[in-house]
Amino acid sequence: MLVTRNLSKSFGKLVALDSVNAEMGAGQAISLVGPNGSGKTTFIKCLLGLVTPDSGDILLDGQQVIGAWNYRQRIGYMPQIGRFPDHMRVGQLFNMIKEIRQGAYQQLDEELVNAFEIEKFANKTMRTLSGGMRQKVSACLAFLFNPDILILDEPTAGLDPLSSEILKDKVQAEKTKGKLILLTSHILSDLEDLTTDVLYIIDGNIQFFQPIEALKARTGEQKLNRALAQVMKEFRN
Ligand code: ADP
Ligand code: MG
Repeated sequence: MLVTRNLSKSFGKLVALDSVNAEMGAGQAISLVGPNGSGKTTFIKCLLGLVTPDSGDILLDGQQVIGAWNYRQRIGYMPQIGRFPDHMRVGQLFNMIKEIRQGAYQQLDEELVNAFEIEKFANKTMRTLSGGMRQKVSACLAFLFNPDILILDEPTAGLDPLSSEILKDKVQAEKTKGKLILLTSHILSDLEDLTTDVLYIIDGNIQFFQPIEALKARTGEQKLNRALAQVMKEFRN
């Protein structure tokens, strides 16, 4: 469904992505892992059209997306830090975003809006929300228009344990419906149950991109964090 071919991006002399080739398909939940500064966010931003790659292709169902914008309606994005107009009320924010879409969606998915009880703080301004509450708003917006692709950057960061489970269940359910999910998290145990594949990136190069089962078999470890630690050691040597 979503393919990158020889995707490269440099910032000055720094190579952030070095000819990345990845094929990502429906029903996969791909965890992007790698040390800080390895190019994960740059990769995500290229897919979203927020960073323009220097060379290479990004194909969605065979169509080039670099320079296009319409395809973005197929992606729900939860940024690491959601930024919203400070003085806007939560309810107004949702209304505004629905208006911007002008009905360019089949059906609203308000499952998270209900589960997180967003109605209860609809009248609060964004400025007064706690980090976790903002995170909930971001999550609701990512899923709201029922997109085929979900890109979630540290989705559980700052969420209380119950909310974190609600969100993970939602991701799981959407994966089962055949959506493509791309996520990052520093909390590997959060990724453990959700992930089908691990894309491990260092210095803008894919070190491996494998099903989680293959990774576990290769390392003889049953836990994602231990399997990854094992592989990271291999690559250091
Ligand atoms: P990660 O998300 O894996 O931590 P990033 O993709 O954010 O890594 O960054 C990869 C590298 O590119 C880092 O060295 C970072 O400093 C650099 N970088 C990212 N964005 C920019 C930018 N807009 N200008 C200059 N350097 C950048
Ligand atoms: Mg990042």
